[in-house]
Amino acid sequence: MKKVRLATVWLDGCAGCHMSLLDIDEALIDLAQIADIVYGPLVDIKEFPHDVDVTLVEGAVSSTEDLEKAQVIRERSKLVVAFGDCAVTSNVPSMRNQYGVAAVMKRAYQENATLQPQMPTQGVPALLPVARPLHNVIAVDLHIPGCPPSPEVILNCVSELCAGRMPKITPSFRFG
Ligand code: SF4
Repeated sequence: MKKVRLATVWLDGCAGCHMSLLDIDEALIDLAQIADIVYGPLVDIKEFPHDVDVTLVEGAVSSTEDLEKAQVIRERSKLVVAFGDCAVTSNVPSMRNQYGVAAVMKRAYQENATLQPQMPTQGVPALLPVARPLHNVIAVDLHIPGCPPSPEVILNCVSELCAGRMPKITPSFRFG
């Protein structure tokens, strides 16, 4: 049987959704029987591959780099999943939206700096005017809410998607 090509992506999030994915524990071994992880923070591949079946995207779209990555993901993935509340609603990253980019950058790099306060000019992707949920910038096939979604919800969704079925989502309200 041909394995599902599964990717996971980390945009503007805290990695908590990926940690919750790892919390499916021994079910990861079962998952490895039906899916190959072809891209993500868990594997050492730099460029997003072609012909991906399912991509889980954690995090909001907050920078020009996030935006370009989201567009490449959409072009190269059959199914794109907004994975967790930051991708679904923009959640925590959107807390900066009310202040604006200039004020946030000034606070981070000048007012709170104890050594050499200065604005970065290289190596830091430009922030978008606001942090946006994934469906604001690309078409999304499935939303998995939760901060983070519980391991049980993630396992059910990934298993169903790998089996070619669209899962029914029951939101998880786990905190902490
Ligand atoms: S949804 Fe919650 S756990 Fe997931 S990246 Fe955002 S803040 Fe972290």
